[in-house]
Amino acid sequence: MNAELHLFRCLNDNVGALIRDPETGACASIDAPEAPAVDEALAHTGWRLTDILVTHGHQDHVQGVGALKERHGARVVAPAACETLPGLVDVAVREGDSVTLGGLAAQVWETPGHCADHVVFHFADDKLLVAGDVLFVMGCGRVFGGDYASLFTALERVRALPEDTRAIVGHDYTLANARFALKADPDNAALRERAARAETEAASGSLWGMTTIGEEKATNPFLRAQEPALAASVGMAGADPSDVFRALREWKNKG
Ligand SMILES: [Zn+2]
Repeated sequence: MNAELHLFRCLNDNVGALIRDPETGACASIDAPEAPAVDEALAHTGWRLTDILVTHGHQDHVQGVGALKERHGARVVAPAACETLPGLVDVAVREGDSVTLGGLAAQVWETPGHCADHVVFHFADDKLLVAGDVLFVMGCGRVFGGDYASLFTALERVRALPEDTRAIVGHDYTLANARFALKADPDNAALRERAARAETEAASGSLWGMTTIGEEKATNPFLRAQEPALAASVGMAGADPSDVFRALREWKNKG
């Protein structure tokens, strides 16, 4: 049986997510941006929290961990390099580790770049990636404690997943990302269509926190640095995709 998912808004723009194994009832919160929103989601679904899977140690992803662990006795799985959860981590994970959530299984990838301690969780059987702040809908994380080359490598790895893999992202920056993407890749018809949808969704106040690798390959400028059109948009025709990526990310930082 496949994982059950429930997505909800946390703080202003963080994506809260619960992943549940229907066979065993094991249920993980992805990060813990704030405990009350996670508790509300648990009450709404009737699910019982057993685990917290932490993607990285930034405060807006971990500040609810202590309260949730205390209230629910949840097991905390976090990157070995995470320094913001002293005394709270039950399982410290590294590249290649497996994490089980009831009958569900995820592989851990170390994906520094956004920050030094970042990991993602790949539930291969469920075709599901917990992407944290590496990938956003039509965007990617800012370099904020990590480096550009590592972030590019992490995104290349994400990009190589099967196109029907779903990704839960760390923030709903979808509208701002779509508007930037249109500046960088204006002749992309798939992007124009998706950006129009982002305007509608944002106007209605709905959360957009999940995507697929296929849709991102078609519309996300940070997964398209190898495309001549993107290189041209930053005046770097023929340049190495990693350099084009950096130029795109720095351009996005300014606006
Ligand atoms: Zn972050």
